[in-house]
Amino acid sequence: MPYAKCGGVQYQVRLEPLGVPCSECRRQEAVVHLRYARKRLCATCFSDFFVRRVRRTVERYRMFGPRDRVAVAVSGGKDSVALLHALRRAFPEQDLVAMYLNLGIAYYSDHLEQKVRDLARRLEVPLVVHSLPRDEGYRMDDFLATRYRNKMCSVCGAIKRQLFSKLAREQGATVVATGHNLDDTVGTMLSAFFAGDFESIQRLKPVLPPLIPGQARKVKPLIHTPEIEDLYYVLLNRLPVQECSCPHGLGSSVHRYKDLLDQMEQQNPNVKHQLLAVFLKKFVPLVEQQQSREAEIPQVQPCVRCGEPTSSPDRVCSRCRRVEMLQQARRLRLEITPEEFVAWPEQEPRVLIDVRSPEEYKENALEGAIHLPADEVLAHPRRAARRLKAWRRSHTLVVYCNTGRTSYAVAVKLRNLGFRALNLQGGLEALRRTEFFERVARRLPVPGAGG
Ligand SMILES: [Zn+2]
Ligand SMILES: [Zn+2]
Repeated sequence: MPYAKCGGVQYQVRLEPLGVPCSECRRQEAVVHLRYARKRLCATCFSDFFVRRVRRTVERYRMFGPRDRVAVAVSGGKDSVALLHALRRAFPEQDLVAMYLNLGIAYYSDHLEQKVRDLARRLEVPLVVHSLPRDEGYRMDDFLATRYRNKMCSVCGAIKRQLFSKLAREQGATVVATGHNLDDTVGTMLSAFFAGDFESIQRLKPVLPPLIPGQARKVKPLIHTPEIEDLYYVLLNRLPVQECSCPHGLGSSVHRYKDLLDQMEQQNPNVKHQLLAVFLKKFVPLVEQQQSREAEIPQVQPCVRCGEPTSSPDRVCSRCRRVEMLQQARRLRLEITPEEFVAWPEQEPRVLIDVRSPEEYKENALEGAIHLPADEVLAHPRRAARRLKAWRRSHTLVVYCNTGRTSYAVAVKLRNLGFRALNLQGGLEALRRTEFFERVARRLPVPGAGG
């Protein structure tokens, strides 16, 4: 059962019978091996184990009680999808509301919205959808035109934190639950630790009390759940989940620390659980003690623009400051239509970049296109930048794949690297449908003729 993610990332997960009976029920065949717990579980027992851990985590940290209205931030990714489903099962009587924030990311956000709508309908949980393009008047993609173009994940984080908090308040929720898993938490801890950013480390605690009156408490019921198990849970319960990764999130530093943790796990199956325990029990209290001694706790006040809490001296929160930046930025175009592509003026220099697999490229490519597989650009962006250096100032890079989806992620990455890159909207499939196709078709070699 592979879980394919477009845009270069793919989880290769096999959930096949392990040839031994389940260590819990002893009746069914095991499909999941949990090395750290020394268990091999069948599908039913694994789901029960997963839900039990969520219930225990909620109770252990007193995340919420029977009277709380719990707003669950659902992105459509495996973690938050597993979270909503498991919370519904662990607390059947709990007042739950799901929240989805459409970030206006092309080839991504609308796809996720559909998945979340399906899930909420299936679980009969009320859903609130808030849309950046519709309700706020901007898209995440717009930040590529600002100086935050290389910090998209941190901008996105600031926007989500503030808007989920605001949405939860509007829904009368006392608690906001998010899908941060064990790997996210420990990976971010390491990344923040190496950067000496101790304030961020505190933000990773399982429960964050309200900063100002009326704000919801923030909780992470999956903090003890390894990332891969969210995926097992989603697959075994056949839940609707995202199939592609965010074009902005690829290759961030937290990913690198997560890879490192996976390597350490090969030697020590318990390493992630151990690191979390040390951080929560020893390190965070130490940092908090030190800060209270130095009286460094920043004064939290409501933002003068949006009313959400901020510790910034000018009382403008990080979200409002970033959004203001958009007003000065020119509207950035990231795509051209197939029609514009065909009518490209001769005098305007462009380079075509084909980001498909070598096999697809051999089958049919546009004349003169450079082949640069998406995996390579996303895994080694600096190397790709060196290869394209000659065109950096003089040319527009037109990036394409079959559907436009993968190449969009590459165009975004090339923008991050300072190139003038445009994605061919809808990819070669859309190009084939245009009435201009006859003209362009001549540029496509006959399939099988080699390239
Ligand atoms: Zn079993
Ligand atoms: Zn604000």
